[in-house]
Amino acid sequence: EARVIPRDQHPISRKDVSRAALNVLYGLHKAGFEAYLVGGCLRDLLSGREPKDFDVVTDATPEEVHRLFKRSRIIGRRFQIVHVRFGREVIEVSTFRAFQRDDLDEDQHLAHEETGLVLRDNVWGSIQEDALRRDFTINALYYNIADFALYDFVESRRDIERGVIRLIGDPEQRYREDPVRMLRAARFAAKLGFELDPATARPIPGLAELLLQVPPARLFDEVLKLFLSGHARASYTELRRLGLFTFLFPETEECLTGDQGELWERLILAAMDNTDRRLAQDKPVTPAFILAVLLWPVVVARFDKLRGDGMPPAPALHKAAGWALAQQVDHTAVPRRFSTVMREMWDLQQRLPRRGGKRAETLIQHPRFRAAYDFLLLREDAGEIKPGLGAWWTRYQQLDEQERYDMVQALG
Ligand code: ATP
Ligand code: MG
Repeated sequence: EARVIPRDQHPISRKDVSRAALNVLYGLHKAGFEAYLVGGCLRDLLSGREPKDFDVVTDATPEEVHRLFKRSRIIGRRFQIVHVRFGREVIEVSTFRAFQRDDLDEDQHLAHEETGLVLRDNVWGSIQEDALRRDFTINALYYNIADFALYDFVESRRDIERGVIRLIGDPEQRYREDPVRMLRAARFAAKLGFELDPATARPIPGLAELLLQVPPARLFDEVLKLFLSGHARASYTELRRLGLFTFLFPETEECLTGDQGELWERLILAAMDNTDRRLAQDKPVTPAFILAVLLWPVVVARFDKLRGDGMPPAPALHKAAGWALAQQVDHTAVPRRFSTVMREMWDLQQRLPRRGGKRAETLIQHPRFRAAYDFLLLREDAGEIKPGLGAWWTRYQQLDEQERYDMVQALG
């Protein structure tokens, strides 16, 4: 069934593979096991990108892998994998796995584990089975360390070369098994600039609501990958085009389709561009920033409503922030360490205009000042508020104590 592409007919060289991954592959091979590179790293190499990491699969069980490598740890409960450490690099080693209906259903995992019904022996499979349970053809290519050949079960190479994202098997069934695959389709399209095959794209808008059944924590992990991997703008555009965004950020979608929709879209795209640019320059990014921007339209809408009901600005903002977060956590989790920062960034939007007395000096010392200031600039650029305040703060940051004092005095 596998098409074997011998070494002289493909460009993957051991020089492209990290030292750590080669050590793992050779270690398994010398011990008499099968060992392959698989998935994303081959996709990336064949399409001229640098792999983020190297994943290894083998017919050795996790215990056997663990015994072979001193600095290794078995991870996971139901589907155990092994992390092998070499220096700073960690190689993930999985055992060939057969297809399981409840593969990714976390709740079922727990139910099984509580009732002790998990039978580990049944989950392992052949390399063919391992290939067929993967999501997209572009993620299912294997490189064998024994003969340096590629093993291609589902026309992976053709699709990588053509830049096509195609689900393995029946698309609708594969999305129903695991709705997160719809998000992965959008993510790979954005990241690689590949096209979704029509049969892979077609069912998505109709099945998008299945995302409501996915645990919010898992959706949060996907959101991080979508927006913090250097392709935030493209990911956002794909998500909206495919009708997926509304199931991740329903309240934001509502704002995007309202009267102020164009304004909010400009703001969100500006934040996405900002994040992509920072990552391209190896600058740090925090999920809190992008989440604060994505939920800001919701906060503002709620704030305006509460103000209309006569609530004063400070409590109205506080309440609106709480409301926006409470709505969101039903869809994607928002860990406390991020929601705290988001609230501070929102709160500072209200405080940055008030600079009199010692206030400017206090604000600039605030741990979130920089993030709030960056956010303020985006809001001005998007036309949400009139420009001026951002430039004032830009200048303030560049000056010495006396000049700052003069700036505050000049406010009158
Ligand atoms: P990236 O460069 O983003 O890490 P990747 O292809 O390595 O891309 P991972 O999320 O790390 O993606 O997953 C590793 C591999 O596991 C994938 O290449 C794919 O074959 C398989 N896989 C991951 N998630 C799923 C899923 N939901 N359904 C089926 N197979 C999956
Ligand atoms: Mg990976």
